[in-house]
Amino acid sequence: MRLILLGAPGVGKGTQAQRLATEEGIPQISTGEILRDAIKRGTPLGIQAKSFMEAGNLVPDDVVIGIIRDRLSRSDGADGFILDGFPRTVAQAQALDRMLLDSGAGGIDYVVNFEAPNQEIISRLSGRRTCPDCQAVYHVEHAPPRQEGRCDKCGAALVQRTDDKPDTIAARLKVYDQQTSPLVDYYRERGLLRQLDATAPIDSVYRNLRSLVQGTKSR
Ligand code: AMP
Repeated sequence: MRLILLGAPGVGKGTQAQRLATEEGIPQISTGEILRDAIKRGTPLGIQAKSFMEAGNLVPDDVVIGIIRDRLSRSDGADGFILDGFPRTVAQAQALDRMLLDSGAGGIDYVVNFEAPNQEIISRLSGRRTCPDCQAVYHVEHAPPRQEGRCDKCGAALVQRTDDKPDTIAARLKVYDQQTSPLVDYYRERGLLRQLDATAPIDSVYRNLRSLVQGTKSR
């Protein structure tokens, strides 16, 4: 199964990708996660990406395309993968098409577009808390941890991502509209697009996601 999860930041792609990837035994590849990890470790990639991310802007195409090229060359993606947060521009989508063609491994099976109104997205992002150690995601009202401020899975102190603060949320949504939403047409024209209502409760979104991608076997 080779999937792309498309949709605005905070729409629930990461949560669903994590669950589907675990059940399918294939990697969830999140460029945002790879970049945050690089920032945490202070690597040259992290130093390069930090200011773009803090401002809610996209990291330059050549940087993220390089990340994906490296990541897809690893053997754990041979049976499939779930891309979460990549591609985010038409140039990235074209680069991915070329990479998959060159590798001879076969193309993308489906692109699932997570849909939710902006108001819902703003509420989800501003209440989102994440675990810096195991990347579990919570929401202060809709999906609170059992103990306030602590990760249920590993016990680490939860944090609010710096780019989940109100000013940066507005910038990220604008960037999404301008640079990422054209990908909906890009993939629709190629017959790969599937629409998913992302406003439903987490378990029902997951059931719908599974039925959309049913029949797509791991290779
Ligand atoms: P995410 O965790 O997917 O919301 O990504 C967090 C931030 O990382 C984004 O706001 C961008 O600054 C950066 N980023 C993640 N993926 C990409 C990408 N494919 N292209 C450019 N920037 C990205």
